[in-house]
Amino acid sequence: MASEHAPTDANLVEIFSSVQGEGPHIGETTLFVRFGECDLRCRWCDTPHTWRPAKTCRFERTRGSAEFDVRDNPVLVEDAIAAAERLELSRHAFVSLTGGEPLLQPTAVREFALAIRARGPRVHLETHGLHADALTQVVDAVDVVSMDWKFASDVRRVGDPRSGPVAAFDDAHDAFLKIARQASEVVIKLVVAPATSDEEIDEVCRRVAPHADEISLILQPVTPFGGVREATDPSRLHAVLRRASAAVPRVRLIPQTNRILDLL
Ligand code: SF4
Repeated sequence: MASEHAPTDANLVEIFSSVQGEGPHIGETTLFVRFGECDLRCRWCDTPHTWRPAKTCRFERTRGSAEFDVRDNPVLVEDAIAAAERLELSRHAFVSLTGGEPLLQPTAVREFALAIRARGPRVHLETHGLHADALTQVVDAVDVVSMDWKFASDVRRVGDPRSGPVAAFDDAHDAFLKIARQASEVVIKLVVAPATSDEEIDEVCRRVAPHADEISLILQPVTPFGGVREATDPSRLHAVLRRASAAVPRVRLIPQTNRILDLL
């Protein structure tokens, strides 16, 4: 008998086992499923190889080995789950669906999330936080929505001009956050770069403050890596922390640790 549904495929970049290097779950055992393609261009992006759909993806062979088998894209979600099981999927606290931007492939995200949950780990969705419609399709299958709040001083959409001001992201993030609150945990991450202005910090805090009891607001200093040469000055980080914590009670300043430890 023919099956009811055609198998779902996905454009992936890689699957590997490591530890969470950002945010409130830092240090938790995490298996990463990285999706291909992104519709933003963040100045400090540390995964520019994910911007376009990937021709091939790589699956780590054994947990923590950093040795990979390469496969052509697209890959069937069921094959990717089988690859994750070879990495001891069920022994991880979390699986992070990351990118690129995973919500450009919501059908695949949903299928991954349901399969992962059935095997034990919690599902952590790492997203730029702009596609509310796509989130609606997956939010009931996700445990943690970790959304960025992008600043127009550092981020452009694909198709924006290369120079000159671009439209702010705040309204789209607002709409996204309303859906994200259906998940059991919401993390909002602000990458604080030298270009981040007081006005940008004030605006996001004003919008996030009504949800403050249900979210974690994380200030993440930009990591000098790749094309980013300049760290944010410590006195500036103090000033931003002071400013944000005056508006939102539980704010934390947490750097990326995966770059410090040189982990995948
Ligand atoms: S949203 Fe993420 S993947 Fe896309 S450009 Fe920004 S940092 Fe890179």
